[in-house]
Formats: sequence, structure tokens, C-alpha cells
Amino acid sequence: MTRVRWIVVLVLAAGAVGSFIMMPPAARTLPMPASLRPPVRGAIHVHTRRSDGTGTVDEVAAAAGRAGLDFIILTDHGDGTREPDAPIYRHGVLCIDAVEISTASGHLVALGLPRVPYSLGGETRDVVEDVRRMDGMAIAAHPASARPQLQWRDWNVRVDGLEWANADSEWRDEPLYTFARTLLTYPFRRPETLAALLDRPGATLARWDALTIERPTVGVAASDAHARIPLTSVGDPYDNRVSLHLPGYEQIFRTFSISIPGVMLTGEPKGDAGAVLNAIRRGDLFSSIDALAGPVVLSFSATGTGGSAQMGEDFVMTDPMTIVVESNAPESATVSLLRDGRPVKSAAGGRLETVTSDPGVYRVEIQWPGAPGQPPVPWVVSNPIYLLARARAVATETLPDLPKQLDTRYDNGPATGWHIENTSRSRGALDVVPSVGGTRLLLRYALGGTEDEGPFVALSMPVSEGLANYDRLVFTVQSSRPTRIWVQLRSPGSTQGRSWHRSIYVDETPRTAVVRFDDMRPLEATTTGRPVLADVRDILFVMDTINNRPGVSGQLWLDEVKLGR
Ligand SMILES: [Zn+2]
Ligand SMILES: [Zn+2]
Repeated sequence: MTRVRWIVVLVLAAGAVGSFIMMPPAARTLPMPASLRPPVRGAIHVHTRRSDGTGTVDEVAAAAGRAGLDFIILTDHGDGTREPDAPIYRHGVLCIDAVEISTASGHLVALGLPRVPYSLGGETRDVVEDVRRMDGMAIAAHPASARPQLQWRDWNVRVDGLEWANADSEWRDEPLYTFARTLLTYPFRRPETLAALLDRPGATLARWDALTIERPTVGVAASDAHARIPLTSVGDPYDNRVSLHLPGYEQIFRTFSISIPGVMLTGEPKGDAGAVLNAIRRGDLFSSIDALAGPVVLSFSATGTGGSAQMGEDFVMTDPMTIVVESNAPESATVSLLRDGRPVKSAAGGRLETVTSDPGVYRVEIQWPGAPGQPPVPWVVSNPIYLLARARAVATETLPDLPKQLDTRYDNGPATGWHIENTSRSRGALDVVPSVGGTRLLLRYALGGTEDEGPFVALSMPVSEGLANYDRLVFTVQSSRPTRIWVQLRSPGSTQGRSWHRSIYVDETPRTAVVRFDDMRPLEATTTGRPVLADVRDILFVMDTINNRPGVSGQLWLDEVKLGR
């Protein structure tokens, strides 16, 4: 043989030995104990070709079927204005349509929304408020993304759930040599190779524990399946650059799943989708890394004299409770019970039983021997049972903080000094129209031009002496269509750091809006602090394309505009 051939042979041999040494163990198939009902299993947070995924809905469903899943929750990027597909079974897999919304402080997975009559977007607190008003569930997506701009950045907003693990962000934060190892072993053991990239997401789990101490918060392991890795960057999932169609959907679905023990599917898509979504909303689910071992069966309950509680439930303790964890984990696994995020008891194998008199937020983790990561990723993560010392305080109506003084700026008669501003291809008109017992202001608007032009129509109210004597704006508002409008404070001179705004929801029902100046945020993300109220010279009511598509037109009525303190 020539020298070149020898080198080729040696390289191939080294590659083969390398793959063999680095090969992750094969996923173990677990027995199904007769005493425990197998849960309904599925994947949440899945992209299709409708946004930046590589498969059609049908192809993705087929892949989920091959991976043994019962349901998938599709979350293509959008603003909520697309009519969600009705739930449907494809290839034996229940397909539930939902949406992933980009907000100012991170991506939000919104479940259970109808078609929204205006675009969801803008400040995270507003999008979450909108999702709640429409009875949806708001889940903070990939909170620990490797890309800072995709991380969740506003934990003051009360979300209903968070992704304690997100496959897509886990895989993107690995160093290059790990990727090289991945390419060596992926052809042989695909889900196992993907799982080998996981670590314990310690910061996100700690964040989740802290949130659950304040209020119930659901934790899910999200697939974030796109079935592609962009080759030109570490990857904003939402771009259209050259990408490798790896890992495939089926492999992602074989790596992770969420399981719902409390639901039985009947084959009727609408009812089944409702049952799955309700269980997720209640927090009656656990996550597992099936590429280590699966399918996982888990039962976790707390029982006292007054009854018992399952995952996601509150229970007011009056006497000691018996907590029982049962699963099909083998003896080599370790099951841990955590209270308020701290381990309080652990046992070898799949069963743990303990009696507790301590109220707290209890959840379960099961550790697989030799699980990947430093520290190792938990194999099974339950949702909490909330053992309470006393019933949760019912959200009492906080006493309205009534202003001591209100100065009327518009009530009846001409709108002296008010004027319209708009981009060149948008149109606005202001009229004084009759109302009950007087007049009110009517703004007619049409947003024209492309999104890039930043179309807007604004109605400006002069406040020549500034706002130093006031802390809020109060007005009645009615709109010809549901949408959000911005109330903006503007100071003359440079635009940098001189404009502050707050968005409010408006629709056909007249309502009184109160906008507090200390609750407004700067237009520019770089500005901090508070608006200098003495410098403000006008208040604007703005329609723009954060919550409206270019091309929309409508009417907005304003009355009883007052400044208060
Ligand atoms: Zn995202
Ligand atoms: Zn996503």
C-alpha cells in the first residue's frame, strides 16, 4: 500500500475508535408497570414550515408518530392574527395549534388563543395581559437561550409557565469540539447524541423554584423543534439563512417529551385538545429525557386526612401529609423530593415515600446514572404540588388610588391646540362630534405604507406648562375595533431619551383609562430613569404598527381627558 492509503486507513480507524469511545449509551426501554397508567406523551414548542421549521404539519406529525408521541403543540412564530388550525389527528398524533410571539423582552409561547383581531407584540407585560384577556396561557420561552436577545428579560411580568429546558438553546450553547463529537456519534445514536449535549439548567430551575414560591407556575421541557441548525451563525432560530436539516424532528421527539398522567385521549380531536391544554394549564405534567430511558411513568401525590393533591394542585395542610412518588425508574436511578427548590429526601430506584408537616412547594427530580452534563441534567422533572399553610389570599380588589385633584383638559367644545401628526402615507383627521350631553373627540386614522416606514398616526394634546404638578392621565376611550394604542409623553428637542410611553387596550366598549406617568417606559431601550415631567410639552395618543398591520383604518373616540395627582 502507498503511504497515502495508509494515512487514509489510519484516519478512518481513528474515527471509528473515536466514535466508539464517545458513543453515548443507548436509550434504555423501561418496563410498563401494570399498577401505573401510562401517561399521554407529547412535545410542546414545535415549528413547521409555516415559520422557520423545515417540515410541513403533516411531516412533523408523522415524525411524532414514529417517535411514539400522542400529541404535538405547534408554535410557529406569529402575532396571533392567523386563525389557529382546529385540533386534528394526523398519523395518530393529536396536532394542537398555538403561537410563539416575539415581545420586547423575549419570546412568549401562547396556548389556547383564538384568532386575535389585532397584532400581539410590543412590551411583554402588554402581550401577557392580552393573552390572559383572551383566556390563553403565557409561557416564557427559552429563558436561558445562548443568544442574549432571545433570553427572557422581564421576570416582573407574571407568566403562567416557563421552559425549564429548551432543546434548541441547550444545543446552541455548546463549544465547537462538542459539536465535532456530536457529528461523529450522531449517525449511530441520534437522540442519545442530542441528549449528550444537555446540562442541568441550574439558573432556570432556580428561577422556576423562586416563582413557584410566589404563585403556581408551570414548568415544561420544550422541544423547540425546527429540525435545522443555521450554518452561518449560532443561530437565531427565526432566520432564513443556509441551514443544516439536522437534527430531524423524529430525533428531537425521541430526545425529550412532556407527559400528562391525568388525561385519557378519546380520539375526538377537539375534546382531547381541550383536555391536554387544561392539564398543561393546571401543571399536571412532568418532563423526561427519553433518550436516556423511557417511556417514563410517574405518579406523585400528597395525601392527608382532608384529601389528596396531584401535580399542579394547591392543598391547605391541617396535619402531616404523606408524599408518595412512584415510577418505573430502575434501582440505579435516584429519586429526589425538593421543597422550595432544596432537596429534602432522596431514595434509590423509582419509589419514595415520606411524611411531612412542612408546608412548601414540593417537586420531584429523578436522576439517571451517568446522565450527561456538568452538573448532570435531571432525567425526570415533575411539576410541583403546593402544600400551603393557609389558603391563598384571594386577589382582593386593591382600593383605587383616587386622585386628589383632576384638571380637565378636554370635556366639551373645540379641541384648541390639539393636532394630528402622521407618516407620509398614513392619514389622520380630528373632529369634534356630539356625545351624550356635549361633545367628544373623534380621531379617524388609516395606517399606510410598509412596515419599514414605521407608519403612525398620532393625536397631540398640548401641555404647555409641563406635567410637574401631575402624576397621571385619565380619559375615556372607545375604539371602532379591538387594538392597543400608545399614550406618549414628549419633550421638545432631541428625541433621544425624551419620549416615554405606555400601551393600553381599547375596544368598542367605552372605558376609563388611567395612565400613571411612573409606569411609562422610554421609547429607546437605552434610556433609564424616569421622565422629566416638567419638560413634557405634549401628550400623544398614537396608533402604530406594533399592534396593527399596515393598511388598517379605524376610529377612536376620546372624552373627559384629565390630568390628575
Ligand atoms: Zn423562540
Ligand atoms: Zn421557537
